[in-house]
Amino acid sequence: MSDDAPPSMRMLPALDDHNRAFWTGGADGALRIPFCTACGVWVSPLAAECPKCDSVLEPRPVSGRGTVFTYTVNYQPFNPSVPVPYVIAIVELEEQADLRIASNIVDCEPDSVRIGLPVEVRFERQDVVDESVYMPVFAPRTD
Ligand SMILES: [Zn+2]
Repeated sequence: MSDDAPPSMRMLPALDDHNRAFWTGGADGALRIPFCTACGVWVSPLAAECPKCDSVLEPRPVSGRGTVFTYTVNYQPFNPSVPVPYVIAIVELEEQADLRIASNIVDCEPDSVRIGLPVEVRFERQDVVDESVYMPVFAPRTD
């Protein structure tokens, strides 16, 4: 993250071999999370190796469904290009009880968000220098 990034809706990550699958999976609509084939566990935050057994992790698609684990509504205009209020949340993915990622909740009134709210992933495409990043954000599930 740097302060001289171009104005954009969200902070953009620097892509490397360990996070590229996560940040570009939205190109084909898949949220990809590192998975340890030795332990059979998903790993988040993003890592190169399994924190339990040091095996190399393999990005695998998840369902993109989960629930709001916790959240906060931000009213401070830290970034002038991001309209407030907006919801910063930790989303727990349905694949594993402790598999959580930090994201935003979109397409709903911030006041309507609650802990346990069923959500599903969608992607906001951001074009960086020579790659497109697909920010995973979450919206309330309609099913
Ligand atoms: Zn492992």
